[in-house]
Amino acid sequence: MWTDPTQPADPYMPGHGDDRYAVQAYDLDLDYAIASNHLSGRATLRCRILEATASIDLDLAGTLRVMSVTCAGASLRRHTHRGQRLTLRFTKELPAGAEITVTVATRGTPRPLAGIGGTAGWEELDDGVIVASQPHGAPSWFPCNDRASDKASYRLTITCDAAYTVIANGALTRRRKAGRKTVWTYEQLEPMAPYLATVQIGRYETREVAGAPVPVRIVGPARLRRAIDVAFADQAAMVAAMVDWFGPYPFAGGYAAVVTDDDLEIPLESQTLATFGANLTHRGWEAQRLIAHELAHQWWGNAVTARQWSDIWIHEGFACYTEWLWSPLAGGRSTEEWARHHWARLAELPQDLIVGAPGAADMFDDRVYKRGALTVHAVRVAVGEEPFWALVRSFVAEHRYAVVSTADFEAHASRVAGVDLSGLFDAWLRSPALPPFSSPATSLIRGKNAGESVR
Ligand SMILES: [Zn+2]
Repeated sequence: MWTDPTQPADPYMPGHGDDRYAVQAYDLDLDYAIASNHLSGRATLRCRILEATASIDLDLAGTLRVMSVTCAGASLRRHTHRGQRLTLRFTKELPAGAEITVTVATRGTPRPLAGIGGTAGWEELDDGVIVASQPHGAPSWFPCNDRASDKASYRLTITCDAAYTVIANGALTRRRKAGRKTVWTYEQLEPMAPYLATVQIGRYETREVAGAPVPVRIVGPARLRRAIDVAFADQAAMVAAMVDWFGPYPFAGGYAAVVTDDDLEIPLESQTLATFGANLTHRGWEAQRLIAHELAHQWWGNAVTARQWSDIWIHEGFACYTEWLWSPLAGGRSTEEWARHHWARLAELPQDLIVGAPGAADMFDDRVYKRGALTVHAVRVAVGEEPFWALVRSFVAEHRYAVVSTADFEAHASRVAGVDLSGLFDAWLRSPALPPFSSPATSLIRGKNAGESVR
């Protein structure tokens, strides 16, 4: 294998990621001042060289000044930080398989990074911080190999004013006072893509949710406590339903729903948590479907991650389909009614998008979500209940903590179901025209919709 460093690691994210190495572990030590939005960081990256090379690139926003770079395991000739790339040049070529540890100290005032679909990354709230990096915002706050295919374990240590609660990925392993500050340490042991790394800071209270099969916490401002209780009343039941549908919850650190004091345009998933705006603290379907949607991403997107952004329908199709699965359990429309409803709406929209390769500008187009979900529905109708749930669960079990492609899912679905589904995937994912609605022949999915035996 030889990588052309002028070619992007992912065509949808030019200027991000480097295929010549992989990060095994990130150790991020951050000191953050809320009032000034000043972030000092020390990032230690344990890396493995994948192909012989005399240089590697890290992604790091220009707003963060590099104070020092050191490298153990190789002799560093020099480093240059231009734009969003931190290039390390070594005194001689490193062989494939070489292990190096890079430590980068940075300082600056982080802000969201601009990308094709908008801004993403570290962002100040009225009184706190949200980090929502999908898809290109990770370099806004730490040096990384910013490609979704490069998963690593993380330790995040964040020092912040003691009046604030800090939430990050994984399990809280230590919290200690240091003068007027608190030092929070989180460990995310299961592999994680850089875009899913997050820090959430606010004047929050943390409450445990009883009755879920894994530890579930709700984090938010005290003023919203009653509204949050009402909005998230089904959180434990949702976790249980999804464990039934998709298999064991993937992360030992459990799950946290973080509600910000601010309204947010959209909620967003991170690994082991999701962030919701204050505007979603209600019982309406718009809030409930999104609470289910973000939780579903723990399996679809976080545990099982698309190797390339062109396959994002795998994340969003399953997360959206989970909304339709949850609906009848919440007393709403049946799954098939939602599928039919959204098929009819799609039929009225322009049919000029290839859902299996929508292009970077349209990767978050709502048609990717809805038609992605309809693709899942079409597979279910085509193969029948038992094979469908078997293939869904085995796909997660076989690929969790790894990255996948659409081809992987197609091959898996066809193999487990024992039928050739290539025509179905061609029609739904690789042709612009909307295929006819997939109606179940008989009562194929009635049991699910009635919520009789949710698996
Ligand atoms: Zn989503």
